[in-house]
Amino acid sequence: LAQRLQGFGTTVFAEMSALAVATGSVNLGQGFPDTPGPAEVLDVARAAIGTELDQYPPGPGLPVLREAVAAHVQRFRGLAHDPATEVLVTAGATEALAGALLGLLDPGDEVVVFEPLYDSYAACISMAGGVVVPVPLRPPPPGEPGRWTFDPAELRAAVGPRTKLVLLNTPHNPTGKVFDRAELELVAEVVREHDLVALTDEVYEHLVFTGAEHVSLAELPGMRERTLVVSSGGKTFSTTGWKVGWVCGPAELVTCVRTAKQFLTYVNAGPFQPAIAAGLGLPDAFFARVAADLEHQRDLLVAGLAEAGLLVTIPEATYFATVRVDGDGLAFCRELPHRVGVVAVPMSAFYLPQHAELGRDLVRFAFCKRPEVLAEAVRRLTAA
Ligand code: PMP
Ligand code: GLN
Repeated sequence: LAQRLQGFGTTVFAEMSALAVATGSVNLGQGFPDTPGPAEVLDVARAAIGTELDQYPPGPGLPVLREAVAAHVQRFRGLAHDPATEVLVTAGATEALAGALLGLLDPGDEVVVFEPLYDSYAACISMAGGVVVPVPLRPPPPGEPGRWTFDPAELRAAVGPRTKLVLLNTPHNPTGKVFDRAELELVAEVVREHDLVALTDEVYEHLVFTGAEHVSLAELPGMRERTLVVSSGGKTFSTTGWKVGWVCGPAELVTCVRTAKQFLTYVNAGPFQPAIAAGLGLPDAFFARVAADLEHQRDLLVAGLAEAGLLVTIPEATYFATVRVDGDGLAFCRELPHRVGVVAVPMSAFYLPQHAELGRDLVRFAFCKRPEVLAEAVRRLTAA
C-alpha cells in the first residue's frame, strides 16, 4: 500500500455493516435510510433508463441538474450561480471533496479542519499530499443539554504560512452539530484575513431540527467568492446509493475541481441526474417534511438510548446521535451486536490516529431508520 494511504485500512463502516449482517443485528452504524425516496424522484430515474441518458453525459453534469442545483441554492441560500461555470456534478459529495482537495492542494499545503472529522477527509488530504491540521470540537457534558463547541483561539492558532484551505462540515457528522451564524463568522474571519479558500460540506443541509438553522459559509460577507460548497442528493432524497453530488462556487475554483474530476470518474450516471434535478425542484413543504420525519426518529432514538441508561447528546441535525460509554467505544461496538443485536460505530474512527483517545469512549448511533426498526433497537438495548 502506498505511503499516502498508510493507516487508512478498511473503513469502520464496512466492518460494522458486515458485523450487522453476520449477527442479524439492527444496523444503526452506517448512515443510510431504510425507506425509498420520493416517487417524484424515483419515477424519473426509472423512465430515464433505456434512453440516451444511458450513454456518457457531459463531463460537468447534465444541464438539467446543473440548472436545478443553481435554482435550489438560490431558493434556500439566496446565492446566484451560473450553471455553466459555477456548478459541477460529481459522484456524490465524496468525489466533490476529493476533487477539490486534489485540484487545490500542493504537497505540504495545510488544511484546517474541525475534529472529529468525516473519515474521507484525512485520506483525501493525504492522497493530495496535504497535511491535516485539526481544531478540536468539544462535547457538552454527556446526558446534559448543550452543543459541541470550539475555542476560537485554537482555530486562529491552527492557521500558519502553509495553510491553503479551511474544510468545514455543517451540519456536522458525527456530532450532529449545526454551526450557528456567530461560529461561522469566526471561521469566515480567519479565511478572509489569511486569504484562504473555504471548502464546506453541507450534505445534511436539509436534515436540521427545531431550534437550529442551517446557514452556508458562502452566505457570509466576502465568502461567496472564496468558498466551494459541496452537497449531495443522497441524504435529502434517501438515495445514498446513487452517488449524485455537486459543488458550487466561483468559476475559477470550480474549474480546479473539474480538472481533477475529469480524471477521477470522467462523468456520472446519467439516469440519476434528471431524477435528482426533479427532487431539487420539489416544493418547500417536501424539505420541511423530510426534516420533521427525521426529527421524530431522532426523538425516538434519543429517548430510547437514555432509557437504556446511555448518556446521549441530543443532535441538532443529521442522521446521528452520540453517546458516552464506560470504557472503550470500539470494544463496545464490536461486542454490542453479539451481546444485544444492535450495531453502532465508534467515534474514534472520526479522530486522527494520534487523537483517538479524544473519541475513545464515544459511540455514534444512526436514527435514519423506520420508527419500528428504532423501536426494535431500543427494545434490544433496554432488555440487555
Ligand atoms: N460528507 C459527510 C459529512 C457525510 O456524512 C457523507 C455521507 N456519509 C458524505 C460526505 C458522502 O456523501 P456522498 O454519499 O454523497 O458521497
Ligand atoms: N456518511 C455515512 C456515515 O457516516 C456513510 C459513510 C460511509 O459509508 N463511508 O455513516
